[in-house]
Amino acid sequence: MTDITEVKLNLVSVTVFGAGREVGRSGFEVKGERTKIIMDYGVLVKDERPAFPLSTSPKDLDGIIITHAHLDHSGTAPLFYISETPPVYMTEITKQLTDILIRDLLHLSAYYIPFEALELKTMLESCRSIRSGTYRIGDADVLFQNSGHIPGSVNALVTLEGKNIWYSGDINMIDTALLKRANPDLPELDMAIIESTYALVDHLPREECERKLVETATEVVEGGGLALIPAFSVGRSQEILCILQKYGFKYDIAVDGMSRTATKMIAGCAGELRDPELLHDAMARVKWVQGERDRKKLIDKKGVVISSSGMLTGGASTFYMEKIRNRPKDAVILVSYQIPGTPGRILMDEGKYGPPGDLKKVKCRVEWIDFSSHCGKTGLMELVKSLKGNPKILCVHGEAESCIDFAERIKEETGHDAYAPSIGDVFKL
Ligand SMILES: [Zn+2]
Repeated sequence: MTDITEVKLNLVSVTVFGAGREVGRSGFEVKGERTKIIMDYGVLVKDERPAFPLSTSPKDLDGIIITHAHLDHSGTAPLFYISETPPVYMTEITKQLTDILIRDLLHLSAYYIPFEALELKTMLESCRSIRSGTYRIGDADVLFQNSGHIPGSVNALVTLEGKNIWYSGDINMIDTALLKRANPDLPELDMAIIESTYALVDHLPREECERKLVETATEVVEGGGLALIPAFSVGRSQEILCILQKYGFKYDIAVDGMSRTATKMIAGCAGELRDPELLHDAMARVKWVQGERDRKKLIDKKGVVISSSGMLTGGASTFYMEKIRNRPKDAVILVSYQIPGTPGRILMDEGKYGPPGDLKKVKCRVEWIDFSSHCGKTGLMELVKSLKGNPKILCVHGEAESCIDFAERIKEETGHDAYAPSIGDVFKL
C-alpha cells in the first residue's frame, strides 16, 4: 500500500547544483510539486577554464534568482536563454553590473563559454527588477532582503508548500563605508543554505583596516610616491573611494579600468548605498583615467590609483604594477583576499612579480589589508545561532575544509542537522 502521507511530506526538494565544497559556480534548485526555481547560476573560473553548475531544463523553470552580480553567482545564467525566456529576478543594479561582468567574461573566455552575447541580452530582457520585499514565483513566495555584500546584493527566503528555505547568498553582517549590513528578518526555517567562505577565519576589525589603508596611502604620497590599489571593480573600488573620502585624504586619486564604469553605475543607485553623498563627494574629485596617455602621465606623479583587477590578473592595474615594481618610493596596497596562484598572492607571499617563469623581487613597498565583504567565522556562527526553528543547514560556497568544519561546529554548538554537501546532493523537506 502506498503511504500517501509520506509522499506528500516529501514534496519540496533542494538540489545542490554548484558551490558544494568549493567557492564558485553557486547554483541551487528548489522544486515543489509544480514549481521549479533556480537560486544563482554562477561560473567557476580555474586556471582560465570555466566550470559550470549542474544543468536542468529551462522549459518548466518558473524563475531564476540572481542574488548579486559576481560571476560566481551569475555567470552561467544566460545558458537558460538559448531556447526559453524564464523570468530572472534581480535588483536593478545587479542587472547593470551583471551585464558588464558577463560581457567581460565572454570577452576573456568566449571559446569555453556555452552561450553568446545574444543569450545575455535575452536574459536581461527577461529581468523582473526586485527590491526588498516579497515576490510570487510559481507557487512560491520569495522574500528578498539586503545582504550587505556588494551593491544590489540580496538573500532570499523561499516559502513553498509550507516550507521555509533561506539562502544567504554572499552575506556581510557588519556595516562598511559603502554598504549597510545585512539584518535578515526571518520566520522559523526548515532549511538554511549558508555561505562558508570565511568559516575558518575572523577578519580584522573594519576600522583597523580603514586606518591602515589611509595611513599607508598617506605615507607613500607624502614620500613623493604613487600608491597603486588594485581592487575589484564592483564593490571594493567604491568602498576604497568612500574610505579615503571619510578620512579626509587630501591627495590626488585616480580611477582606472572597469572600476570606472562600475563606480558610475553604482553611484546611480543611491538607494543601495549607506551614504550616497560620501561616494558622490569622492567621485567629484577623482581623475577618471581615459586610456594610455592619461596612464603614462599619472605614472610619474604622486597620488593614489584605484584600478581593477584586484588580484593583478589583468586589467589596468597590471600596467601600473609593471611600472612601479622597481621604484622604492611607490607602493602596491592589496585590499582583498588573494586567491593562491594569482600574481597578487605571489606578490603578497614572496614579494615577487613578473610573467610566469620570470618572477623577480620587487623594490616597491607591498602591503595587504584584509578587507572583506563576507562574514567571518564568528559572524557566521552568530548568524546560525540567530535562526529560528530547527532548520537543516547546508554549508556551501567555501573550500572543502571550511564547509566541513563549519557544519561540524554547527552540529556541536546548536544541535541543528548541518551538512557540507557535494554537488548533486538532494535534500527533501
Ligand atoms: Zn560575491
